[in-house]
Amino acid sequence: MPERVDTAVVGGGQAGLATSFFLGELGREHVVLERGRVGETWRSERWDGFFLNTPRWTQQLPGFEYEDDDPDGFAPLAEAIEYIEDYARSFAAPVREGVTVTALRARDGGYALETSAGDVLASNVVLATGAFQRPTASAPGAESAAVELQLHTSAYRSPAQLPDGGVLIVGSGQSGCQIADELLDAGRDVQLAVGRCPWLPRRYRGRDILRWLELTGVLDQTVADLPSPSARLACNPPVSGNDGGHDCHPRWLAERGARLTGRVARIEGSNVTFAPGLEESLAFGDAFVAEIERTIDEHIAREGLDAPEAGPARGPWPPVVETGELDLAAAGITTILWATGFGPDYSWVDLPLVDGDGWAVQERGVTEYPGLYVVGLNWLHKRKSALFCGVGEDAEHVARHLAARV
Ligand SMILES: Cc1cc2nc3c(=O)[nH]c(=O)nc-3n(C[C@H](O)[C@H](O)[C@H](O)COP(=O)(O)OP(=O)(O)OC[C@H]3O[C@@H](n4cnc5c(N)ncnc54)[C@H](O)[C@@H]3O)c2cc1C
Repeated sequence: MPERVDTAVVGGGQAGLATSFFLGELGREHVVLERGRVGETWRSERWDGFFLNTPRWTQQLPGFEYEDDDPDGFAPLAEAIEYIEDYARSFAAPVREGVTVTALRARDGGYALETSAGDVLASNVVLATGAFQRPTASAPGAESAAVELQLHTSAYRSPAQLPDGGVLIVGSGQSGCQIADELLDAGRDVQLAVGRCPWLPRRYRGRDILRWLELTGVLDQTVADLPSPSARLACNPPVSGNDGGHDCHPRWLAERGARLTGRVARIEGSNVTFAPGLEESLAFGDAFVAEIERTIDEHIAREGLDAPEAGPARGPWPPVVETGELDLAAAGITTILWATGFGPDYSWVDLPLVDGDGWAVQERGVTEYPGLYVVGLNWLHKRKSALFCGVGEDAEHVARHLAARV
């Protein structure tokens, strides 16, 4: 006989745990099914030298006071994992570790879950399986690349893992830029294929950028504020929490010695062809920074805040040289690191839940299927939805909606 539960939360990361916290507060019986251990993604898909790029004060999981005497500092990976473990313990979250949900179907007005530990029937299901789950595709011809190693950032751990020689990093979002920085520190030759990604300065006018994003309301922008639904798929702006926090964008990396190229269009053996558009991609990043800084300047003026004047304009940056082609062997490149991002993976959900991009169709976490919810997606509702400081609001909304169901 399948086990019956009121609510099954699938995923024991920050989103599943925050939802569990509110379900507990509302007195709803539930279980959290986690295929690995609590915070598994941080354990198995981040690299050894990773630091959170959001300062400690943003670690605001609901109902949990984060105790640290350096709120403006950045947590290394081990501390971030400990934080999530402590959070789960703080309210005795009913997590079952090592249980993978392999299928979800509608059944008798509720849901049937097939799991590695047996079948479960639930009146409600909350999908908290993460937005950064399935590595996205590489480039045409990647399988023919004449290098010793190709890997996605989710499998990257440290420079020592890579064979000697140069590294072509494809993708200039958060992971690509942070790993480029680490490889440059390790003395590696780095080529960075730059995509259309915004970036941020670490600090501006006396404060950390996250503080400004909070004060100006940028973190609270909702999907309705976006120019188009596809804008929510844009990559997260790279900025680093390593070494006390610093800029970490392509122009800054070029100044440190990385060679920048346009997007990888195709690979044939040792030959890589790049798409034109490097200058436009860099101009896109510059324009994003200018827009954010203008928003901050206006906020300071409007609120009459006491903030230092902006420092001199950054740069001049190394000149941009568009490269059409690269011979991997001649350039001494032995590794290609695919920093092309992630997408969610709902292939195990036997319901037409996703849109053409593979993202769950929902409004503030509520899907069209009664009792089926989603939390933890990038821009689920707000810009901060997938962050430690944003997931709580969404989790509370979902838990309250669920608890109000007859
Ligand atoms: C490189 C990178 C850096 C980031 N840095 C920051 C940062 O500095 N600050 C910040 O606030 N945010 C950061 N984020 C964003 C976000 O905080 C994390 O991605 C966070 O892990 C999202 O939490 P989540 O609970 O939604 O998903 P996850 O942490 O991915 O949790 C989902 C859980 O579901 C489990 N699961 C998946 N499928 C199943 C299944 N079928 N059955 C059972 N269990 C399943 C997984 O094992 C996992 O534990 C970063 C993201 C990335 C990719």
